[in-house]
Amino acid sequence: MNILYKKSPVAAALALGSNVGNSEEIFLQACKLLEDKGFSIDQRAKSIITAPVDCPAGTPDFTNSALIGCFAGTPEELLEITQSIEVELGRPADHAFHDSRTLDLDIIIFGDTVINTPRLTLPHPRAQERRFVLEPLSQIAADWVFPDTMRSVRAALDMLEK
Ligand code: ATP
Ligand code: CA
Ligand code: CA
Repeated sequence: MNILYKKSPVAAALALGSNVGNSEEIFLQACKLLEDKGFSIDQRAKSIITAPVDCPAGTPDFTNSALIGCFAGTPEELLEITQSIEVELGRPADHAFHDSRTLDLDIIIFGDTVINTPRLTLPHPRAQERRFVLEPLSQIAADWVFPDTMRSVRAALDMLEK
């Protein structure tokens, strides 16, 4: 007998950032590409404009958003998809850390996965310290819990505001 196993979808949260080009248009294209590649989007947050953090002087402001959805594959497969979309939408392959970019698409939460490998750390290791990640994410997933600290998105944002 031939039994086909299909992985069940896992709920995941992604963060979007852009400070080059028409960021809203780039986010729309990123959403379309995510859907085409098998990430099913449930909700996207309204974008916010944020001043650059830890970037060289003169770096343009960022547009930041977040989205939540489901993915029926591994976290590594999702990383390959997000990185291919970054390149498709104009990010140079040799981009330096914290350079300006058309699109930065990070995986913030992937179900209850907690991993730390050279290519992928989950939950995203700096997300809970970043207002520009937590604020958009709290619009659509305030009750989601970071599976490493067991803190909700709302609680992490509240801690930053104290
Ligand atoms: P930061 O990670 O502080 O937000 P960045 O997004 O500017 O910085 P990038 O140059 O986009 O950093 O990514 C560097 C590497 O981070 C990627 O090549 C990827 O392998 C790795 N990485 C580790 N964990 C994650 C994650 N959760 N989401 C996306 N990339 C990750
Ligand atoms: Ca990032
Ligand atoms: Ca990134």
